[in-house]
Amino acid sequence: MRFDIITIFPDIFSSYFKESIIKRAEEEKLIDIKVHNLRDYTEDKHKTVDDTPYGGGAGMVLKIEPIYNCVNAIKSQILNPKSQTNSKSKIQNYKTRTILFSAKGKKYSQSDAERLSKYNNLILICGRYEGVDERVAEHIADEEISIGDYVLTGGEIPAMVLVDSITRLLPGVLGNAESLKEESFAGIQNSRLPKPGTGGQAKFKIQNFVLEYPQFTKPEDFQGWEVPKVLLSGNHKEIKEWRKGNAKSKM
Ligand code: SAM
Repeated sequence: MRFDIITIFPDIFSSYFKESIIKRAEEEKLIDIKVHNLRDYTEDKHKTVDDTPYGGGAGMVLKIEPIYNCVNAIKSQILNPKSQTNSKSKIQNYKTRTILFSAKGKKYSQSDAERLSKYNNLILICGRYEGVDERVAEHIADEEISIGDYVLTGGEIPAMVLVDSITRLLPGVLGNAESLKEESFAGIQNSRLPKPGTGGQAKFKIQNFVLEYPQFTKPEDFQGWEVPKVLLSGNHKEIKEWRKGNAKSKM
């Protein structure tokens, strides 16, 4: 999976992506993260990425031209048939999706992470200031995603949320793939999701799903706060039942 992140603050990403699972996944070439500085795709000497909103109002709006230039440059690079690594059939089957982050977008969930993990490439556009010229949502992005009902300063944290939540779903990334099956929200299913590359919107509605059961580790007793005895019993059937009974569900 290749992630292309478009931002005016590329340095934000260096620390998070250089640790732990994301770092290992990159080292093992399971993912490839490219961060693009939007200013590099401007055409004026001041490298202008924003301007005042038509109709007036507070703040600045990210302009469409550099975003258009950057997305086109990324697509022509990854879909370039002359590139040594890109055979014709590889290009035909290559699934890419462009995502714009905005507070008004569709709220992101585990089912979106599962759906998006089936693509080869995600282009992630991070907004800033008052937002992004609406024509980016209308004509460049395939979908708009919000990571929750609150307003952040920029789309960089949402981009990290997507990269992280999708990377851990990719084959070979987690040492123990079995652990994914027991994670919260696991098994939210794909059957009603659109096929990657068809451009369809997810029709999936979150139904009742199970969150992970409570986890404990040593010591057995910390200041009188004890681990449930059944977990120390070694009785796998009873442990399984206890976990089932103590896993919360959510509508
Ligand atoms: N004026 C916008 C509004 O009222 O919705 C807020 C713009 S916000 C300060 C700047 C950028 O941060 C947005 O363009 C978007 O890319 C990102 N952003 C803010 N909140 C977000 C959220 N909940 N989910 C995803 N992206 C968000």
